[in-house]
Amino acid sequence: MRPVYLDNNATTRVDPRVVETMLPYFTEQFGNPSSIHSFGASVGGAVKNARKQVQALLGAEFDHEIIFTSGGTESDNMAILSALEAMPGRDEIITSKVEHPAVLSVCEYLEKTGRAKVHYIGVDSFGRLDLEAFRAALSERVALVTLMWANNETGTIFPVEPLAELAKEVGALFHTDAVQAVGKVPITLKGSAIDMLSLSGHKLHAPKGIGALYVKRGVRFKPQMRGGHQERGRRAGTENAPGVVALGKAAELAMAAMADEQTRVKALRDRLEAGILQRVPNCFVNGDKYDRLPNTCNVAFEFVEGEAILLHLTRAGIAASSGSACTSGSLEPSHVLRAMNIPFTAAHGSIRFSFSRESIDDDVDRVIEVLPGILEKLRTLSPFWAGANEAPKEFKPVYA
Ligand SMILES: *Cc1c(COP(=O)(O)O)cnc(C)c1O
Repeated sequence: MRPVYLDNNATTRVDPRVVETMLPYFTEQFGNPSSIHSFGASVGGAVKNARKQVQALLGAEFDHEIIFTSGGTESDNMAILSALEAMPGRDEIITSKVEHPAVLSVCEYLEKTGRAKVHYIGVDSFGRLDLEAFRAALSERVALVTLMWANNETGTIFPVEPLAELAKEVGALFHTDAVQAVGKVPITLKGSAIDMLSLSGHKLHAPKGIGALYVKRGVRFKPQMRGGHQERGRRAGTENAPGVVALGKAAELAMAAMADEQTRVKALRDRLEAGILQRVPNCFVNGDKYDRLPNTCNVAFEFVEGEAILLHLTRAGIAASSGSACTSGSLEPSHVLRAMNIPFTAAHGSIRFSFSRESIDDDVDRVIEVLPGILEKLRTLSPFWAGANEAPKEFKPVYA
């Protein structure tokens, strides 16, 4: 039986057309893109072309606003560290409690080492940013506001454009971790107030280990990697030419497919969600019903362990992901669900299903077929399960 892969927010399969495009850059086209002889020149041309392809996907104004990096984590680190250095006299950062560790860990490190004061803005039970707290934290002491475009666990989208406008009013830089948004929702950076944006190849059908940081022209940037003059002196090191070419091709493919795929993938996701809510008692959707990525579905199943659900799904040939991260031997619910104040009994049983343009109807059918049985079996074993529909009402089907 065909395996069902619904964990595309963790990583995606490299598109075969992307593989085909990158392969020659390991063999015949092996030159250093910075060399002026013919071996290098053609690779240099391919890198330039890839930069234009990424520029197009982001709706950026200039191709040199794109800096190639090793992925989302490096782009996030680079943006935050650069901003703090580029804004002398300002030592505060505003971020949210639901960011990816690639942002949160850097903020915590800067805080611990006394280099910055960090405001961690909270969210409501749908994962929406506390706008009042955000406005209150804004001041002329803020060097950088870094807020994700879309959450990797729930798919909830932050209104980054208006948030960037607000940051601008106090003269702060605005960075967004758009790793989950790029290729899934339309983005136009030209004319926007967003100064920096991170993206990662392996979340959009390019390989792991390649990504990019967009830095708007005119925004002060302090390199964090010193060495050669690659990337206009903003990120030293010989370019990962095969990866760069792959990311360019993946950007082109994502752009061509986006309009149709957004609708098709959202229909698959919605059918799965409706199917689960209809057939399984005591569950609800985590995240914002309206402002949410079209591919992400995170469901909280009360009174069961997410890990147990995953194990049974795995046995049925279905790959998904749980909201739990194993820390120091105990299963803690994710920081995202905790920030949303999802009750422990439900956060522990939260499962994320994330689709891609390679997902098909059969994937949805298979999950709907096996999931109700898995939940029924696990709940009869659960000491906390006292029968259906006895859950606290305030977190119940807002999605019905
Ligand atoms: C995956 C992810 C990252 C990290 O990207 P890598 O390329 O794996 O380093 C950062 N932010 C978000 C929101 C992600 O989903």
